[in-house]
Amino acid sequence: MKKPKNVSILGTKYEIKHLDVVVHEDAVCFGLIDPDEKTITIQEGLDEKEREAAITHEIIHGYLIESGLPRYYNDELLVEWLTRMIRAIVKTAAVAIGEGD
Ligand SMILES: [Zn+2]
Repeated sequence: MKKPKNVSILGTKYEIKHLDVVVHEDAVCFGLIDPDEKTITIQEGLDEKEREAAITHEIIHGYLIESGLPRYYNDELLVEWLTRMIRAIVKTAAVAIGEGD
């Protein structure tokens, strides 16, 4: 699978990096976003579902900060809920709009 090197979050370019180990506040994690450096770092070697969830999770953090909601940026419960629900929400909306099946 191709690994993009950059992504735009509401017009702000974030570099996507991959590291063998990602550490945040002394804890190993699957991913990390740095809104000051404009980087998203993802752990190397994750399986497809873990990688997809980690990238989605960090991008949601990015959308919260870039859209002017810093209050929610560090709300891990909210970010993780959005990570799990966004695809279901998009699918439900597509059905309601008449585009889904
Ligand atoms: Zn997080």
